[in-house]
Amino acid sequence: MTEDIRTLIDANVKKVFEKIRKSAERVGRDPNNITLVAVSKTVPVEAIKIAYEIGLKIFGENRAQEAREKVEALKDFDIRWHFIGRLQRNKVKYVVKFSELIHSVDSVDLLLEINKRAEKIGKIQDVLFEVNISGEETKAGFKPNEIEHIVEKALKLENIRFKGFMTMAPFVKDPEEIRWVFKGLKDIKDSISKEFSLEKLELSMGMSNDFEVAVEEGATMVRIGTAIFGRRDK
Ligand SMILES: *Cc1c(COP(=O)(O)O)cnc(C)c1O
Repeated sequence: MTEDIRTLIDANVKKVFEKIRKSAERVGRDPNNITLVAVSKTVPVEAIKIAYEIGLKIFGENRAQEAREKVEALKDFDIRWHFIGRLQRNKVKYVVKFSELIHSVDSVDLLLEINKRAEKIGKIQDVLFEVNISGEETKAGFKPNEIEHIVEKALKLENIRFKGFMTMAPFVKDPEEIRWVFKGLKDIKDSISKEFSLEKLELSMGMSNDFEVAVEEGATMVRIGTAIFGRRDK
């Protein structure tokens, strides 16, 4: 049983890396500049161990409680945990403890709470700002015209290190339809990068269904669950 899972995950990971490489090469990018975040939400600890042994080191979780339990269960593994989900203020104190990077900062209040909790434990927390490019009402994230202000704010906070942007594109059958979303975030990154003289900002965009297009449009981090671990039971 475990061996079947290992074979499956191993094959999936190889396919994902191969697709990242090809997409990057299509647009003349170096595939080594693209970080794979393995999204392990709902995935059992045993499968995360297998993925780790295969060579994945960065795992993304989207629920504070589930993440806390997994971090504890896997504390002997040198895993770099990323938090990618909607974050409530009252969960920040837990999430700051284990997160190398929080991808999903979507309000000033949340940013200030992260700064406060990071200060308490003597940490500088790396964060990305989630941007709602598509304008869908159900999506979290800052509006594009709020970005300049929030970046300015973040740069003044002592325990926050602003690292870039994240977006989630609408789910569509043909990812070509949402290429503009990734382009839109890349444009924001470029203009903020110029305005604040910030080099090397990250662009966290692309999931199982659309990461090839996201890589073509400049993603530096892709967040992939299903294409590695298989379909999640809801
Ligand atoms: C679940 C999730 C992903 C991964 O989605 P897949 O389609 O399974 O690859 C990426 N980003 C966020 C924020 C998620 O919640």
